Amino acid sequence: MSDYLVRATALDGKLRAFACITTEIVRELSDRNKALALASAALGRTATMAAMMGVMLKGKETVTLQIRGDGPLGRIVATADSEGHVRGYVDNPLVELAPKDGIVFGDVEKLDVGAAVGDGFLYVIKDLGMKEPYIGSVPLATGEIGDDFLYYFAQSEQTPSALGLGVLVGKDQAVTAAGGFLLQLLPGVSDEDIDYIENQIRQFPHITSLLVQGYTPEEILKRLIPGDINFNEKVEIGFRCDCSHERFARGLLSLGAAELTKIMEEDKRAELVCHFCNEVYQFEEADLLELIAEAKRD
Ligand SMILES: [Zn+2]
Repeated sequence: MSDYLVRATALDGKLRAFACITTEIVRELSDRNKALALASAALGRTATMAAMMGVMLKGKETVTLQIRGDGPLGRIVATADSEGHVRGYVDNPLVELAPKDGIVFGDVEKLDVGAAVGDGFLYVIKDLGMKEPYIGSVPLATGEIGDDFLYYFAQSEQTPSALGLGVLVGKDQAVTAAGGFLLQLLPGVSDEDIDYIENQIRQFPHITSLLVQGYTPEEILKRLIPGDINFNEKVEIGFRCDCSHERFARGLLSLGAAELTKIMEEDKRAELVCHFCNEVYQFEEADLLELIAEAKRD
């Protein structure tokens, strides 16, 4: 099943829901970052959240999620747009820590993501096409990512929410399943419905175990929400980075003729790597000469 996201409403429009499968995206991010299990889990959970927050946006708007903890993983960054394109990276993809309960490696729920992230802050940066981006932040609650976003929604957006984010990594470090759900309760939901949802969440199996069994995002929401659900939208989501050779050429150009001439004289070429997706862009002698000529014209 390729990755997709559903957006739904229920309880007479008083509940907004999102659910997605992100296995392919997380696999791609894990491969591009050459990440081991812990980094795949942390980055995958963040990217899954970004996918859900991305589709809440409109047009050319984007959202960037940054987890900045003092743990060994360093920064975890994921960006998404309103069309479901997601990218992301983690500073230190090779971190390994002892599993939480000292048992079974291979079940990501035993991975100690909280310890690998550490203490710090969660930043939500929304580029809404205004002069300045919107930046919201909260201290990290546990560093387990899901808890941190729940805290963010409660604090910054004052929306009671229920959230599940999961990444399952196999013994061979390959991402087996990833996905998430988010329920947002608007004012006016009855106590009875709230009790029902809380109860379902309490006894809900981990989302990756459902995905491995073949549950779809739609079926996951049906298990959580009472009554009829209106599925308003199904969005295909996937990895995409907006870097390009041209974009990096413009970056080089901004260094100016003197600096470019220095690079030309010293190395005869330049190799640039997109830190978001690890794509490598080569600039040979002819490219550099052209850029120098262009820089001199400006
Ligand atoms: Zn890139």
